[in-house]
Amino acid sequence: PGPQLPHEAGKKNIVVLGSGWGATAFLNALDTTEYNVTVISPRNYFLFTPLLPSVAVGTLSTRSILQPTRYVTRHKTRNVKVIEAEAQSVDVANKTVSFIDNSDIQGSVSSTTLPYDYLVYAVGAETQTFGIPGVQEHACFMKELNDAEKFQRRFLDCLESAAFPGQSEEEIDRLLHMVVVGGGPTGVELSGELHDFLEEDLKSWYPELAGRIKITLVEALPSVLPMFSKRLIDYTMSTFKESKIDIMTQTMVKEIKERSVTLAMPDKSISEMPCGMVVWAAGNRNRKITQDLMAQLPADQTNKRGITIDESMQMKGTNGSIFALGDCTASSHAPTAQVASQQGAYLARAFAQRAKRDALQTQVTDLENTLAMTLHDDTQKQVKEEAESARRALAKFKIRPFTYSHQGTLAYIGSDKAIADLPLLNGSLASGGVLTYYFWRSAYLSTLFSLRNRTLVATDWVRTKIFGRFYALFA
Ligand code: FAD
Ligand code: NAD
Repeated sequence: PGPQLPHEAGKKNIVVLGSGWGATAFLNALDTTEYNVTVISPRNYFLFTPLLPSVAVGTLSTRSILQPTRYVTRHKTRNVKVIEAEAQSVDVANKTVSFIDNSDIQGSVSSTTLPYDYLVYAVGAETQTFGIPGVQEHACFMKELNDAEKFQRRFLDCLESAAFPGQSEEEIDRLLHMVVVGGGPTGVELSGELHDFLEEDLKSWYPELAGRIKITLVEALPSVLPMFSKRLIDYTMSTFKESKIDIMTQTMVKEIKERSVTLAMPDKSISEMPCGMVVWAAGNRNRKITQDLMAQLPADQTNKRGITIDESMQMKGTNGSIFALGDCTASSHAPTAQVASQQGAYLARAFAQRAKRDALQTQVTDLENTLAMTLHDDTQKQVKEEAESARRALAKFKIRPFTYSHQGTLAYIGSDKAIADLPLLNGSLASGGVLTYYFWRSAYLSTLFSLRNRTLVATDWVRTKIFGRFYALFA
């Protein structure tokens, strides 16, 4: 890293909330020469979410898909402050953010407020529970790193309890029944990974139990993976059938209890399904801080799905002081990593343009001030011309709007098979199978932000092939 310049009083302050896909892509691409930048996020690392289900079953190690936020910021021209804290509120009128240190260890100060000129708001979303009883208490989520770790602990606990001497047959079947709620890509990918774990590892580690492990995927809609083409949905359904993963569509989870889930079946009857553990992958909802932020602008922020932004990602109603991106926004794009990272990179470029525009504005103001002074006729003419030309350049200055370029949708479905809907010049290509799986692997490997992560993930794949997953779970 080169020499880092300190924060400077004359520079505009950008405060970035979040260290996920949107914020990290923004920080990666941002030229900090003209800005003082502060990042605030409750986690001081970036998490590569597409490979989280692989971590849950031990195919990959936890550390392989994390990248410290300071790894990105330490290479910047100007010192970027990274604060591990959770933003509690944004005051739109006074342009301030209040945040707290809610980690286990705290100093004598654990809450404060910072002013901003520009706020880059990328706090993502949280798991949607629809207020369904028992979800928070009894289910595992699959969104953050600790969700994958909790999943590992519970899953192994179910296996060991099933192996406990004297366990009844009925209880063994209950403990070994894994229910995944939500047939979106998260639920499908986790079910596929779980199946691989069962086939490739558990059969040799728990031979007496492996044959009795059952995976059920419950989806309220008529089909899983609605964002994929019909052919790939059918392919996934038939692969799951071969893999003995039960898919229950048009079935809605109404309650989760300690030892069962309550289901509303397609015929509207209510059924109780015993199970050892439940993974809840039923989609996203906005965080409270986002709802509170939107509530400050009732006339402009009326979309219940999230923050309304314009084509340059300015939050409507904030006069260009707040830019929102990623899962916390309601736009025409799906809430995906692909969208959030393109938005982050775009916003960084737009800030570079904004810095040029601000420099032009300063030039115009300086020249106008000079003109106001009594000058020699020749100088007056020359300054007038310069001011006119700077004004024209400023009038022409337009920050280009964001355009999304869809690179395709990929998902791993287990048994060394993946599905891909890829845009082509003359339409699209829907492909599924083992070759697509290698494409899936290489696509994610190249998307990982650092060489270190790429090396660790590739090494983990080799490690899993040679030694299996089980050791990783005890690491
Ligand atoms: P996030 O990446 O969630 O980042 C939000 C950040 O804000 C986090 O750092 C969080 O700690 C921080 N934060 C939270 N609260 C606060 C607060 N109060 N103050 C400050 N910071 C805060 N998308 C794809 O395109 N392809 C895939 O293959 C894919 N696979 C996925 C697999 C899984 C298991 C999951 C869960 C999601 C997957 N997604 C995928 C979706 C993708 O992860 C999200 O769309 C993406 O993370 C959105 O980026 P974001 O920056 O908006 O939010
Ligand atoms: P999702 O919103 O895509 O799917 C959730 C599913 O849960 C829905 O189909 C919904 O009908 C179902 N559901 C909700 N409540 C239910 C209930 N009570 N009972 C039964 N089913 C219920 O959520 P996700 O899979 O977490 O994905 C979130 C976002 O992240 C999406 O935009 C997705 O595209 C993206 N993502 C992409 C990938 C990928 O590209 N491979 C992987 C994971 C996530």
